[in-house]
Amino acid sequence: MNKPLKHPETQCIHAGDTVDPLTGAVMPAIYPSSTYKQEAFGVWGDYAYSRNGNPTRAALERCVAELEGGTKALAFASGMAASSAVLELLPAGSHVVASRGMYGGSFRLFNRVKRHSQALLTDFVDCSDLPAVEAAIKPETKVLWLESPVNPTLQIVDIEALAAIGHKHDVLVVVDNTFATPLGQQPLLLGADIVMHSCTKWMGGHSDTLGGMLVVKDAELGNELQSVSNATGGVLSPFESYLLLRGIKTLALRLKQHETNCFALARWLEQQPRVKQVRYPGLESHPQHELAKRQMKHFGAVITILLDGTEDDVATLFNALNVFIIAEGLGGVESMIGHPPTMSHNSMLPEEREFLGIPDNMIRLSPGIENAADLIADLEQAFARI
Ligand SMILES: *Cc1c(COP(=O)(O)O)cnc(C)c1O
Repeated sequence: MNKPLKHPETQCIHAGDTVDPLTGAVMPAIYPSSTYKQEAFGVWGDYAYSRNGNPTRAALERCVAELEGGTKALAFASGMAASSAVLELLPAGSHVVASRGMYGGSFRLFNRVKRHSQALLTDFVDCSDLPAVEAAIKPETKVLWLESPVNPTLQIVDIEALAAIGHKHDVLVVVDNTFATPLGQQPLLLGADIVMHSCTKWMGGHSDTLGGMLVVKDAELGNELQSVSNATGGVLSPFESYLLLRGIKTLALRLKQHETNCFALARWLEQQPRVKQVRYPGLESHPQHELAKRQMKHFGAVITILLDGTEDDVATLFNALNVFIIAEGLGGVESMIGHPPTMSHNSMLPEEREFLGIPDNMIRLSPGIENAADLIADLEQAFARI
């Protein structure tokens, strides 16, 4: 049933109609069963085998499909499993044009794994340069892979304009929407063909679930991805599906507090003499602030700064923090801080990081939903030590 729900706060609670029709349980059951009884020989029910379909996972998939304005969603064991499934659609030797700034793990998937296993060749292009993107598309280009905001540079790219360029050349347009969440932007409505999520971040929101998602509006593309998912098997477990559904209920509420904290911290950081640059899409000083205002409903919940200091200063600063947790993760209720060059993006060569715009003095903050004053006080005493 598709209720005409307008507001994201309401959608987060009711999208996908996840009340259990059998019992009326407000939260769907966790169905661990790996297989399903057939009523008689040759009589197939809705479910046959849990790799292919599972009621708990299906409830989550209905919910996210609705949040993204799509018709079908597929849940995977992680964001990377979801991304890998998209690339499995491509014939060997295909060409991909990808956003120059991107999550380190995606870069590794394209440039190391798929390059060898599928002879996939990827050109990493600055997607704020539209003519450069169009020029990079070749006859064998099959996918345009975008990320906005980009992890960790927070560059914003014009999804609508880029989707139009992709479609002009018959290229599948994929958007990694992890940093915006479906409440921040809905790429399918801007023309993208596939939305990918790492649900491990804000969707789950509690640093206790790994998960990935693909969402599409085209039924045939949805079926192709479903076949890949079933054949390769990287699906999300029923328990994780439940945790994600539970997390999404409070997504709108959490994002509001994340964003309030981000604004307070970003403005405070801008005043600090040891901070060379503060990047947050909500700040007027962000190079694509106007585009962010047009394209996004929330500015996301990551702040990236460039420190005026050495790696030793980064270490001193990090070790002095009491509230911020030093961690690889993002998107939890607890505030986290990371150093991309030695953490999330350390599988890259220094020249690859330089190419992606990740200098050694870059710090990434993922403010949680604590009180902003406590977060500022924590940073203040840490900055006093460098
Ligand atoms: C974390 C992340 C991923 C990978 O997701 P996992 O769930 O960790 O596999 C992909 N893209 C972006 C932007 C991310 O932040």
